[in-house]
Amino acid sequence: GNNVVLIAVGDELIAGLKKEANISWLSAELMLRGQDVVAMEVIPDQEEVLVDMLDRWAGRVALIVISGGLGPTHDDRTREAIAKFLGLPLVAEKDVYDRIISRYPAELKESLERSGERQAYIPSGAQPILNPLGSALGFSIDFKGTKIFALPGVPQEFREMARVVLDFFKKDDEVCVGLCKVVGWPEIKLKDHIANIIREFPANVMFLPEPNIVTVAIKGPKHIVATLQGKLMKLMKGDILPENASSLEDAVVKLASKLNISLAFAESCTGGMVGESVTRIPGASSVFAGSAVCYSNEAKEAVLGVPREVIEQFGAVSEECAVAMARGAANIFKANCSASVTGIAGPSGGSERKPVGTVCFAVTCFQRCKSWTRHLQGDRETIRLWSNNIALEAVWR
Ligand code: ATP
Ligand code: MG
Repeated sequence: GNNVVLIAVGDELIAGLKKEANISWLSAELMLRGQDVVAMEVIPDQEEVLVDMLDRWAGRVALIVISGGLGPTHDDRTREAIAKFLGLPLVAEKDVYDRIISRYPAELKESLERSGERQAYIPSGAQPILNPLGSALGFSIDFKGTKIFALPGVPQEFREMARVVLDFFKKDDEVCVGLCKVVGWPEIKLKDHIANIIREFPANVMFLPEPNIVTVAIKGPKHIVATLQGKLMKLMKGDILPENASSLEDAVVKLASKLNISLAFAESCTGGMVGESVTRIPGASSVFAGSAVCYSNEAKEAVLGVPREVIEQFGAVSEECAVAMARGAANIFKANCSASVTGIAGPSGGSERKPVGTVCFAVTCFQRCKSWTRHLQGDRETIRLWSNNIALEAVWR
């Protein structure tokens, strides 16, 4: 593939006020087309920084795509930076710009023209790229074997106009990215376990750890990705989500539908997260009965029927309480299977015997019932996410 550099311009991206969404999206698309993204840079709205970037990469890679900084205001400096770097004047593409402006309603036209005059200017010799969604003109220009694209930063506009970039490369049907979602394995242990298999294949393997689930992303020629995926499936049978499931909750809903099982949850420290995860999946209504969020001891007693003595004797964070919660949820929601979560998400509230991160779980399925305790690490949100995914895993298994 060709070497590609992607640059996103914007003070708000640097300040962390906006999540970068343009070049991160484009890099995935280019990767699927067999291109090699060698650098992704996020830079402020400063002309000299972009000139520096161009100085560093132009002439060395096949393609540079720049997002943003084409707006009408004076802090948008992309066109000036490129013109300066190339030593070219900016020239007005007046008729192209007029065509864009003519699509706006009359009352907007005037103010657009007043504020947007600059948006008609591109470096002399550049190819204008029409913006079907807004007023900023994009452009492309060649320099010493490097094709430089400048596209507006508004994400919808960027994606629409980036088609020109994607068309620039033939779609490589041979390259693809395959995903294996492995449940319940720590990343280090998983890497060790499959290192030998991965080494046999000329593919780029990436590990994306999330609470209780690690996505193994395999990028390479189609047949190699498929073979490696098959090998992993065989080796880790039972720990990998089926290929048609995009997440744990998706796998849970699909499995419950297939087996015609109804589900209920009782949640304390996850505060409804489990129910929320499941209801995000289309088709949840055919399997999901409900989830009871019972945070206080009184609620656990009144709603789920947890005996007061259980809480007094063992505490609300105990397997005994988790079992009573799960039974209570199955009972009130008339579900075949249920799961419960009760734990200490922190940062305060732990004790020596039950430190922050102590989370108790129970699962009931028909008459069977199982409970266990985990000691989770991390901040409050991390512990809650782990708890959520452990409960979902338990139902899925
Ligand atoms: P344009 O060239 O379209 O005018 P710009 O960068 O000059 O882009 P801004 O006003 O800075 O214009 O950005 C327009 C909107 O797009 C803002 O909401 C901005 O946060 C958002 N945006 C710009 N770049 C990105 C990016 N890389 N990822 C996500 N959002 C972005
Ligand atoms: Mg900007």
